[in-house]
Amino acid sequence: MTDQEFLRAIKRQYDPDDTARITRALQFATKAHAGQSRKSGGPYIQHPIAVADRLRQMRLDAETVMAGLLHDVPEDTTTTLAEIEAEFGPTVAFLVGGITKVGKVKYRGLDRYIENLQKMFIAMAEDVRVVIIKFADRLDNLQTLDVLPKEKRQRIAQETIELYAPLAHRLGMGEIKGELEDLAFPHLSPREHLWMSTQVGTQYHQLEQVVEELTWRIRERLAQEDLSPNDIHGRRKHLYSLYKKITRPENNRDLRRIYDLVALRIVMPNLGGCYAALGVVHRHWKPMPGRFKDYIAQPKPNGYRSLHTTVFGPNGVPVEIQIRDPQMHDQAEYGVTAHWHYTESGKPDTGSRVSPKLAWVNELAEWRRQVDTPEQYLETLRIDALHQRIFCFTPNGDVIDLPEGATVVDFAYHVHSDLGDRCVGARVNEKMCRVDSTLKSGDVVEIVTEKRRKGPNPDWLDFVKTQAARSHIRRAAREQDTTRPIP
Ligand code: MN
Repeated sequence: MTDQEFLRAIKRQYDPDDTARITRALQFATKAHAGQSRKSGGPYIQHPIAVADRLRQMRLDAETVMAGLLHDVPEDTTTTLAEIEAEFGPTVAFLVGGITKVGKVKYRGLDRYIENLQKMFIAMAEDVRVVIIKFADRLDNLQTLDVLPKEKRQRIAQETIELYAPLAHRLGMGEIKGELEDLAFPHLSPREHLWMSTQVGTQYHQLEQVVEELTWRIRERLAQEDLSPNDIHGRRKHLYSLYKKITRPENNRDLRRIYDLVALRIVMPNLGGCYAALGVVHRHWKPMPGRFKDYIAQPKPNGYRSLHTTVFGPNGVPVEIQIRDPQMHDQAEYGVTAHWHYTESGKPDTGSRVSPKLAWVNELAEWRRQVDTPEQYLETLRIDALHQRIFCFTPNGDVIDLPEGATVVDFAYHVHSDLGDRCVGARVNEKMCRVDSTLKSGDVVEIVTEKRRKGPNPDWLDFVKTQAARSHIRRAAREQDTTRPIP
């Protein structure tokens, strides 16, 4: 993309004031990077332009776009952050400074991974836009990876899959997550990538015809009920996420077990319209048992909301259908960035800049202070934060949010340390279960305690999944018996 093309796109989207500021940032960055070229050839400024344009496509505010243009200036040129601040003000300088900090650590194996995580979380707690610019930066770098030596390519690909993609997922940025993974996949495992692409090649084609026919027929049925969708479209599952799903043991690398290879998405004007459309779909196409999920009534932990169902479409082919309103759609595609959206009515609402959904980011920073070593912290992050969460209920209907694989003991400690200490089992959905039973979303869990029980069993450390349970059990074990070795 040339600078003229970029500026034309900016002008269409932003008001004259912001367009002028972005234009100045482009001139400033062009001057600072003058004479530099990319490893892949061409003037260096092409990279910041690509990054800024991605942020524009994500409809972020002018300051974020400006920071995208300026993000490599302090690192790679003689121009300083202070000069950026003098020219563009403290917010843009803060964002650029944040990106520079996040990117500064040199590769030192696992340590770098941990340090990067910490920096990202700290940066995020201050302003999540720093991380979003970093995503845009990474997306462009992944596109020009071919020029690098194999080892470096693999390292960047791995870091993308292990760090950036889970973060994007956690921030609810589904589209960005999918793109990051798909760009990294061929560099991480070229053979598997080739195998997967070959597998889906013909399948996609057949399925897309089915989806096209179904789209047309659903439109007709909705019209008969006076329902008019804003949009109906098919979407292909991202290749890497398909790969992860198909290589799970229960799927046995068999594509026929995947029902959302191509899904049909219905965007209805409002919430009521979503349920009405679902009614129409289920009345005319038989739903596949066990595949209906109401993520509107029970959103995913990252904020994702939609109705999901799988129906038997034309020729009996199962097709997943996702129904949502425009707000849910924005949230699903852009996640937290939806809060910074540049609206036609004016600037984003800066009053609500720190979304309550980001509370977990602060929690992570808090955990870092509680654990001893970086390795422990990493382990905590992997288990508690980056994994899928499940939602269970107390008998009173309180929701308890736990990592996937959590057990009865984790649940007990999450409610109260006393409950954990005296736990001997639980009634899960009214059935007696052992302390090490794994819970799943929707379970109603009533912890069974024994009054005379003195404390937890150190053997529980073998199966608990949460940091909270682990530290309670360790502490109680130390107090109880100082002669016994603690695992
Ligand atoms: Mn860059």
